[in-house]
Amino acid sequence: MGSQEVSTVDWQGKHVTVAGLGVSGIPAARALHERGALVTVVNDGDDERARAQAAELEALGITVRLGDGATLPPSTELVVTAPGWQPDKPLFLAAAEAGVDIWGDVELAWRLRGTNGRKAAPWLAVTGTNGKTTTVRMLASILQAAGLRTAAVGNIGVSLLDAVLGAQEYDVLAVELSSYQLHWAPSLRAHSAAVLNLAPDHLDWHGSMEAYAADKGRVYEGNTVACVYNAADPATEDLVREADVEEGCRAIGFTLGTPGPSQLGVVDGILVDRAFVKNRQKQAQELAEVSDVNPPAPHNIANALAAAALARAFGVEPAAVRDGLRSFRPDAHRIEHVADIAEVAYVDDSKATNTHATEASLAAYDSIVWIAGGLAKGATFDELVTGAAKRLRGVVLMGADRALIHEALTRHAPEVPVVDLDRTDTGAMSEAVEHAARLARPGDTVLLAPACASMDMFTNYNKRGEAFADAVRERAETSA
Ligand code: ADP
Repeated sequence: MGSQEVSTVDWQGKHVTVAGLGVSGIPAARALHERGALVTVVNDGDDERARAQAAELEALGITVRLGDGATLPPSTELVVTAPGWQPDKPLFLAAAEAGVDIWGDVELAWRLRGTNGRKAAPWLAVTGTNGKTTTVRMLASILQAAGLRTAAVGNIGVSLLDAVLGAQEYDVLAVELSSYQLHWAPSLRAHSAAVLNLAPDHLDWHGSMEAYAADKGRVYEGNTVACVYNAADPATEDLVREADVEEGCRAIGFTLGTPGPSQLGVVDGILVDRAFVKNRQKQAQELAEVSDVNPPAPHNIANALAAAALARAFGVEPAAVRDGLRSFRPDAHRIEHVADIAEVAYVDDSKATNTHATEASLAAYDSIVWIAGGLAKGATFDELVTGAAKRLRGVVLMGADRALIHEALTRHAPEVPVVDLDRTDTGAMSEAVEHAARLARPGDTVLLAPACASMDMFTNYNKRGEAFADAVRERAETSA
């Protein structure tokens, strides 16, 4: 079957087990039930919320089994799972043993696209350890600027299933895919795809770095026009080499340096395309200026180049790349400039929840007072601290695993002053900002880029970022 064709499944009377009530499980159960499948939802939890959700599904005629997500219902012909479920769960082992296929939410959306009488839009897919959401939203902005009907979908905004089955018709979708989703999406075939970068993350789920990389690499399988890789991250190029793509599909690199043929890159402050031009040996096409990228931090320029490469692979004109990048506004808590106080910039990158993201963030500024700490999730900080040591004016540490970062600083940057905050109450962030302000000199940046998860002190990274921004604004007001 050609990669972009729509597959048909006869759902009538098919016994499908949906694993997990939740954001993907409930719409999946409904969609399958509407198509005539005999659906059983199994769920580990049995709390009040689950019971209410179960009651709604049961009213439609869907069977729900609460409190046991481990046992495979005997007549199951297909399992549809929520992406986060650990692959070594007994339910999946039983399914594998019985020769029953397992699909994730992405696989289901891929298989159901085009089955509601509307055109099946091609997918431009983005994965990677960091930068997915930003890149997908930049891509959607570019596609919109080109006059295409599109949406940023997947891990963000609209769910994939809603996008492919909803009333709205799309020309193309900008799709964010996590490694979990790719793991459970064996037949997905994107028009073109990008892997932004690969650093160890979620290894407890995947089992090993190799397995994690292999799942990310699935995004390239069956691509028809372009496999976009990061020239600075050879592991992403390796994945392209290993992928089984359609005849004529090209490998397209992006680089922050001067691009070679079949690459996009940067020359004298201009984003240029040497891939989708007539004579790529000799010519380059100007797309946008570095200052058109919001914010113009190096890793974000890389995101913009990846988005541009996917848009160009889809045939978008250069002017739309520029217009789309100009109108793009980053999501909150991602290198968000909060205020300038006494010639010091205060920047909220609360979303930097792992060391790879924080490394990118620290690389964007010359002289930094760094606010970090939280839950380390098994990470080590030596490499991060070594790389940033020269640019650190000072450090304020907070949270459960702050000692790990402190030890790395003692080893690799003993001259950098460190404030160790031994409190986890709601006022802790104000005190952190106060210490940071005292350490900063005019021209410095106070950067919240924790390199850790937030749940030891905050509900999530949004709340952490808000606490920082509130503390900064309060300071700005009192010093005004
Ligand atoms: P994701 O959806 O992959 O989590 P986001 O776009 O939400 O990615 O960005 C998450 C964090 O990762 C940001 O706070 C930023 O610090 C960092 N980041 C963004 N793009 C990159 C990149 N290309 N390389 C490294 N870090 C990045």
